[in-house]
Amino acid sequence: TRTSANWMPLDPVHFLEHAVRCHPDKTAVIHGYRRLSYRQFHERVCRLAAALQQQGICPGETVAILAPNVPAMLEAHFAVPMLGAILNPINTRLDAETIAFHLQHGGARLLLADTEYGEVVATARARLGRVLPVVDIADLPTCPRVGEWEYEAMLAAADVAQFVPPQRDEWQAVSLQYTSGTTGDPKGVVYHARGAYLNALSNLIASRLDADSVYLWTLPMFHCNGWTYPWAVTAACGTHVCLRQLDTAAVFRLIAEEKVTHMHGAPVVLNMLIHAPEHHKRRFQHSVQIGVGGAAPPSTVIAGMAAMGFRVVHLYGTTESYGPATVCAWQPAWSRLSSEERARMMARQGVPMLAQGALMVADPATLEPVPQDGETMGEVMLRGHAIMKGYLDNPGASARALAGGFYHTGDLAVWHPDGYIEIRDRARDIIISGGENISSLEVEEVLCRHPDILEAAVVAVADVRWGEVPCAFISLKEGAGRLAADDVVAFCRARMAHFKAPRHVIFGPLSKTATGKVQKYLLRQQAQTVLQA
Ligand code: ADP
Repeated sequence: TRTSANWMPLDPVHFLEHAVRCHPDKTAVIHGYRRLSYRQFHERVCRLAAALQQQGICPGETVAILAPNVPAMLEAHFAVPMLGAILNPINTRLDAETIAFHLQHGGARLLLADTEYGEVVATARARLGRVLPVVDIADLPTCPRVGEWEYEAMLAAADVAQFVPPQRDEWQAVSLQYTSGTTGDPKGVVYHARGAYLNALSNLIASRLDADSVYLWTLPMFHCNGWTYPWAVTAACGTHVCLRQLDTAAVFRLIAEEKVTHMHGAPVVLNMLIHAPEHHKRRFQHSVQIGVGGAAPPSTVIAGMAAMGFRVVHLYGTTESYGPATVCAWQPAWSRLSSEERARMMARQGVPMLAQGALMVADPATLEPVPQDGETMGEVMLRGHAIMKGYLDNPGASARALAGGFYHTGDLAVWHPDGYIEIRDRARDIIISGGENISSLEVEEVLCRHPDILEAAVVAVADVRWGEVPCAFISLKEGAGRLAADDVVAFCRARMAHFKAPRHVIFGPLSKTATGKVQKYLLRQQAQTVLQA
């Protein structure tokens, strides 16, 4: 039972303790020329936990971090929970005002900040109206210092023998993640230790990580705790390869030189790799798996990566589900399909991962599941081991999001006879034209098949006759020929029901959030302005 003296709470810190026992001399972290064995990595984590405790951080308090994918970011993922405190990773692309909002709302007691962001840190701190100690992570030696301490000096000064381990509880909060605000004010999603532990194991299984895995950090760790991979890769005793900045030459070089086996990215990242300059690209003989998620990958992107030799795995999830919640699990029969058909099967969001006990596509009002006919739309609902505790200090939003015991994702999908889900739209992005639903993702999927189109986003604009009609925003590939709006419309009409084809086409770069997601609400406003002019 729970009270047995033998019982231990689930806690992701355990993964590091396990790795150091099994593989003390194995390389845990690679960062440029630096290499840390599991013994060294563990030692640094213990020092960081002790240092933070000696700075007065208590269990249940928040430690914020603003850093790219550097070793300190990995270390914080273990040291802060080791202390019983809550890690709040902040998106490095945010402006000072939003950062100040996160620090204030999350009650951060201390900020670990890479000196590259010194300026924005100073501005955010000045807005707070209270004292917030800052520890500089001086990974780039040339950046000016703004903090009271320097990370390495703080580690060196820590007294590990004095560290007092906290009481562990698997329901305790380990992380605070602000949603990217595609939909308005950011909400603070709280993760518990148990969910972090189970989702990491679920990811480990879905990605088939083991001690030979080499994980390249192309996904920002500040995004949903890197989809729990700081913990998952460590649980597998694999190797983390840090990467400060996503540059395609570095990615291909590290794949070849460090024999990277796994990485992740949003569809924009895959697009960058596909369209990288030829001299950046390198051949590799070993198997490299790339998990794609965060937004719907057009099938052309999946096919493009496969053509370069990558094994593509499609994942879907939300901040509230600790990142990936479904995986488009591969079925052997798909290998007999044409590459185009195969990519279409793989562009579906798939089936629940292990840490999601239940998934349904249902009517949000009645919680009645829709038939698995591949046609009827409903909202994706999740229940499982890895769903947030709730939104910090927001009981109203928490109750709405978790009504009826299911997490309401706000995503509309159809459920196929084989049990795979396929997202059609976010509830607010669906286009209703003449009473018919048009999935913006379905139109975008067709647009992306055009050889000159790099990215496409489709939104609803008001129309006197139809209520709403689709308007496409398009950015073209470099070196693409001239493309007229009429050509785009004709291309779509030849490939889908005519009422679904865009009525308006606007060319230019797509407005994106700090996590690289298209901001459809801004595009809707932009469309309104352009079309009225
Ligand atoms: P925000 O809601 O602020 O963008 P999230 O990062 O939590 O923050 O985004 C989760 C959303 O991203 C999902 O609800 C879904 O709309 C979208 N999404 C994530 N992965 C996929 C995917 N594989 N296919 C389609 N949509 C996806």
